Amino acid sequence: MAMSKEAVFARARDGELWAGLLIPNHKGSGERLNNTTPMDNSLIGHIAAGNTDDVAAAVRAARASFNSGEWSQRPPAERKRVIQRWAALLSEHSEELAALDCIDAGKPITECLNTDLPATIDTVHWYAEAIDKCYGKIAPTGPESLGLIVKEPIGVVGAVLPWNFPAQMFAWKVAPALAAGNSVIVKPAEQTSLSAYRMVQLAHEAGVPAAALTLVTGLGEAVGEPLGRHPDVDMVSFTGSTEVGRLFLKYSAESNLKEIVLECGGKSPQVVFEDAPLDEIVDHILAAAFWNMSENCSCGSRLLVASSVKDALLSKLSARLASWKVGLPTDPATQIGPMVEKAHFNKVSMYLEVAKQEGARLVHGGRIHSELGSGWYVEPTIFDQVTAQMRIFQEEIFGPILAVSTFDSEAEALQLANDSAYGLAASLYTNDVKRAQRMASGIRAGTVSVNGFSEGDITTPFGGYKLSGFGGRDNGLEAFEQYLQTKTIWYVN
Ligand code: NAD
Repeated sequence: MAMSKEAVFARARDGELWAGLLIPNHKGSGERLNNTTPMDNSLIGHIAAGNTDDVAAAVRAARASFNSGEWSQRPPAERKRVIQRWAALLSEHSEELAALDCIDAGKPITECLNTDLPATIDTVHWYAEAIDKCYGKIAPTGPESLGLIVKEPIGVVGAVLPWNFPAQMFAWKVAPALAAGNSVIVKPAEQTSLSAYRMVQLAHEAGVPAAALTLVTGLGEAVGEPLGRHPDVDMVSFTGSTEVGRLFLKYSAESNLKEIVLECGGKSPQVVFEDAPLDEIVDHILAAAFWNMSENCSCGSRLLVASSVKDALLSKLSARLASWKVGLPTDPATQIGPMVEKAHFNKVSMYLEVAKQEGARLVHGGRIHSELGSGWYVEPTIFDQVTAQMRIFQEEIFGPILAVSTFDSEAEALQLANDSAYGLAASLYTNDVKRAQRMASGIRAGTVSVNGFSEGDITTPFGGYKLSGFGGRDNGLEAFEQYLQTKTIWYVN
């Protein structure tokens, strides 16, 4: 039975929400971690504290399932039907899943209901539909031989997830990996395991074999590391910070050279030229900068503006931002909820001080909303007069702080846009189509949006250049490539 959002919030108030291990014939140690909500720091339940033994049990189950062919060898059209059933169950439970992400991560409920869950369900549908439409190839050899180029699932895949879009990131990784025939072990972020737990249960209910999709909750060092180091895991697909991404490369290098795909952080530029229609672009700029409390890897956290229009643009941004509601994530009117946890709130608050010390000028916000109780709220904030040397220009904050810098030529705009160790996304605002094309080609980032902010959607590949990641792309048919390997089979006359 699907729970209403009111029922989820009531269970949260009673401290009864739970996410545990989902591994066939394996119970685990029984140890658990407290789960608090960033909304007011109250206890909403517990998650199982997974460990190395749990990872080993999940890998054994996953390998046995893969070798048995119960899922990996099932015809694509059958896998499709199972995954379609899963998508239907996710649809039935979308309010429950939205409420779980809201209370667990502090994400505004309206966003969870209207954006995250529909996108999550679309993703699962899309990969179900795609899997029986992917063909292999025949090599252009002479008539004396036949070279078949076939795609096969990789084997046992670990999906290590971040906390910022819990249900959606789960779907981005698990749907294509599972549809492709792999056995998948999910390790959700310890801050946000609730929706992942329900999504795996619903997959089993839809008919995905229990050993082909397992879940190990717990801390990064306790679960993520043993998964990364396990000699029988073929691949880890990771979304999270660049620091932890580096660790997965090390785990792989020191174990079995498992394939690693990294989707990491960003410090994306939004470039506004003097001909941009300011009134039309204000909402795009604010969405890019502050959507999801800026806990968004493709957040447009650097605003690069032509000097001649900067003052006009800043006053429009500030006026519009004044109407954004900061508040309890459970309130349907809220646009900005709390930071996900205290440690992250402390990091974001620290950057407010760093910006002032470095000489940036505060033009909007800057307060910590302690009047909302004991939750971890930070007001959307804009700093002007930011130079490329400042930390708020260079470092990923992952919180609602927008750094504004100016330029006087297209060349300077491009140089500033690329002055970053990251390369995930960029937005350009101009009515000059030739300039837009020159800039889009020159910016070293995985996604460039012209006259708007978009990560694209499920039909387009998503991922980064430079420190923002490598090894593949999420979304689109490209995501299948991550989870398949290529085999050549020769028939020789
Ligand atoms: P994180 O790197 O701290 O955690 C991500 C996952 O790694 C979690 O499941 C965590 O438990 C695990 N982990 C942590 N320490 C580990 C360790 N020592 N060994 C193994 N696993 C470990 O990231 P986060 O704080 O959850 O997410 C925020 C980051 O994710 C930001 O940098 C953001 O830019 C990035 N992100 C990127 C994308 C993208 O598609 N490029 C999408 C969302 C988030």
